[in-house]
Amino acid sequence: MSKIQMTTPLVEMDGDEMTRILWQMIKDELLLPYIDLKTEYYDLGLEHRNETDDRVTTDSAEATKKYGVAVKCATITPNAARMTEYNLKEMWKSPNGTIRAILDGTVFRAPIQVNGIEPCVKNWKAPITLARHAYGDVYKNTEIKVPGKGTAELVFTSEDGTEIRKLIHQFDGPGIIQGIHNTDRSIASFAKACFNYALDTKQDLWFATKDTISKKYDHNFKDIFQDIYDTEYKEKFEAAGIEYFYTLIDDAVARVMKAKGGFIWACKNYDGDVMSDMVSSACGSLAMMTSVLVSPSGVYEYEAAHGTVQRHYYKHLNGEETSTNSVATIFAWTGALRKRGELDQIKELQDFADKLEKATLKTIEDGKMTKDLALITSLENVTVLNSQDFIHAIRETLETDL
Ligand code: NAP
Ligand code: MG
Repeated sequence: MSKIQMTTPLVEMDGDEMTRILWQMIKDELLLPYIDLKTEYYDLGLEHRNETDDRVTTDSAEATKKYGVAVKCATITPNAARMTEYNLKEMWKSPNGTIRAILDGTVFRAPIQVNGIEPCVKNWKAPITLARHAYGDVYKNTEIKVPGKGTAELVFTSEDGTEIRKLIHQFDGPGIIQGIHNTDRSIASFAKACFNYALDTKQDLWFATKDTISKKYDHNFKDIFQDIYDTEYKEKFEAAGIEYFYTLIDDAVARVMKAKGGFIWACKNYDGDVMSDMVSSACGSLAMMTSVLVSPSGVYEYEAAHGTVQRHYYKHLNGEETSTNSVATIFAWTGALRKRGELDQIKELQDFADKLEKATLKTIEDGKMTKDLALITSLENVTVLNSQDFIHAIRETLETDL
């Protein structure tokens, strides 16, 4: 069989620890035998980030802007312990944060559903994709612990010196105050990323805030979404047969619990933080989630939602066997390859991505899985495989399909 040819390279961002080991196994076993893989390689492993003063992270994000599609391995975000472990020059910032800031994106996460690993919400038959606004609100707040009696005011001073001033509260004793913000530009980017992703995946889009209580702040989110929808997306949505639906956040939560799934749920930053943990844990495991960063200009970066699985890596270094789930990392590759195939109109590449995903799920449904899944599956008599053997098993399933 001749290998599938590619025309444009994928931006490949290698990473750290156990996921770096899985990365190589996936390429060797599941990709290189079938695809004449074209990538522009960036080593985002912590050692190389340190050597390049983190230049490599910025370069990889710039390359993503240039080529349009990237696939990223999980990476270490350094903390004090990593400073000594890797003898770092600086406590480099989170690569995901750096890349998100450059691409100005929204992160979409959806559970990978497979028979035998059922969500505990029984009526969720299709995945719910969470779209989380990744800028501002309580994540960029300013807080004061009020010591006692006094006046709290909200003041905005414009460039020409004019002031807008509002009373927050007249304190007659100790308390707390919090200032938060967002920008129209960031909200508009978020809205466009959500509308584009809905069109791309042909799913309805839900968005919810608390605009009845927050008549300026949350209402601004609602208005920006509605304006952009009416002027730029309404006709496209109607043509695609999908819907944009706005409701109150409490109504959305109630409806989500009763829904069948198969839609995108756009959330403000805090709601997205909390609700994505709820959806993912209800669906089993972080290793069974897809995650993609989409920029408003239509640039895509695919990754796994979990970290570098440090604990397994130390076992691996000790020569012990590991049973690390590679599904999310495989799906990062298939997502990127399928998107590359779509953009370059290479049907074989899109078909290969579909087949590899199917083979991965079928392997699990056939009872061959890693330990994390064996612990939660409803299937009986399952075989627990180590990291390498699970990938071998997927290859065997794939071979029978090809
Ligand atoms: P983690 O790597 O997600 O792992 C936490 C635990 O979750 C593991 O010890 C393991 O549990 C389980 N787990 C996660 N992924 C798994 C998989 N694929 N297969 C099987 N089990 C899995 O989080 P962490 O240990 O807190 O963080 C490690 C490093 O990852 C940190 O340096 C952090 O900065 C980085 N990180 C990177 C990203 C990213 O690049 N996207 C995201 C988050 C964290 P058991 O040990 O019980 O088996
Ligand atoms: Mg959270």
